[in-house]
Amino acid sequence: MSKEMTCIVCPMSCMLHVDFDGEGHICAVSGNTCPRGDAYARKELTNPTRMLTSTVKIHNAPYDRLPVITSSDIPKGKLFEVMEALRVVEVSAPVKCKDIIVKDICGLGVDILASRSMPQVD
Ligand code: SF4
Repeated sequence: MSKEMTCIVCPMSCMLHVDFDGEGHICAVSGNTCPRGDAYARKELTNPTRMLTSTVKIHNAPYDRLPVITSSDIPKGKLFEVMEALRVVEVSAPVKCKDIIVKDICGLGVDILASRSMPQVD
C-alpha cells in the first residue's frame, strides 16, 4: 500500500510518496528534497499536529479583535475544541505581542499568545 501527499513544511511543496508494510506501518518515504519532508510525512500519518491562528475579542483597543496563535503545535483533532474555547475569550488592551492570553488551553499544555501588540485607546 502507498500514499501520495504534499509536504507543507516549506514553499517547495514536494510531492511525497509513502510506502506501508502489510501491517500499515510506514516503511519508506520518497520524493522529499530534504529530511524535513520525511519527518513531516511520518508525523502527519501518525500524530498530525498544526499551529492554530485565530482572533479573540479585545476591549479598549483600536480594533475589536486581537490576533492570537498557539505557542506550539496542537493535535489536529483538537483544533475545533480550541476554536470553540477561544470564542468566549475577551481581553482588554494594552496587550504586548507574545503575551499569554490563555494558559494551557483545553489542558493541552499549550498557551494561546497574542501575535501582535495592541495599544489602549480611550
Ligand atoms: S521535503 Fe523539504 S524541500 Fe520539500 S517541501 Fe518539504 S521541507 Fe520543503
